[in-house]
Amino acid sequence: MSIKDNIKELQLFLEQYHCKLIAVTKTHPPDLIMQAYEADFKVYGENKVQELIQKQEALPPDIEWHLIGHLQRNKVKYVVPFVYLIQSVDSLRLLKEINKQGKKINRVINCLLQVHIAEEESKFGFSEPELLEALHSDTINQFEFVKIEGLMGMATFTEDEDQIRKEFRWLRNLFDNIKSTQAQDHPRIEMRELSMGMSSDYKIAVEEGSTMVRVGSAIFGQRNYQ
Ligand SMILES: *Cc1c(COP(=O)(O)O)cnc(C)c1O
Repeated sequence: MSIKDNIKELQLFLEQYHCKLIAVTKTHPPDLIMQAYEADFKVYGENKVQELIQKQEALPPDIEWHLIGHLQRNKVKYVVPFVYLIQSVDSLRLLKEINKQGKKINRVINCLLQVHIAEEESKFGFSEPELLEALHSDTINQFEFVKIEGLMGMATFTEDEDQIRKEFRWLRNLFDNIKSTQAQDHPRIEMRELSMGMSSDYKIAVEEGSTMVRVGSAIFGQRNYQ
């Protein structure tokens, strides 16, 4: 199947769940992305800042770019002028820098807070207590140039589907709890997106209430790492 067909099929499936698709383009060249763009698909995600910037420059300006990988504070300034959503905010220090750089160019930056799921290997993300503390604190309200739109998480890299489901369910519960409690009185927080699910586990993720999946290899094929 072609890239266009893969996207169409995924979109049809995700529609039933009112779930959005982010096509993850890391390692793939701009001409491959153009195949999807020409089928009128315009929402893409990259996990590295350098690659994100290069592609943003090489591709049409109406693409919605999502940053889904770890962001170092000294690189924030390069992405804030154009990024649509930073999904991988993993500390308050980073959020502070995003606010600072957003302020400089008078642009409010949409962010998701990345949550660390206990058994995953990645070292990035808020733990549950850290997340609740951050959301309860007054600090976020002072960040006038960021908007927290929800949470992002990755399940443990395992073939155990019950384990994956358990983790997604846990994250959905956390999301719902935050949504129904403290988020209401925070002008900077509006819990509406829950980004979870990749090529190998998006079907489980949507069943467990994901609103946004990040799918790469199921659309573009295997990646070639040098
Ligand atoms: C690479 C990546 C994805 C997509 O992975 P696939 O398995 O290719 O679908 C999703 N989320 C993040 C954070 C990634 O780095």
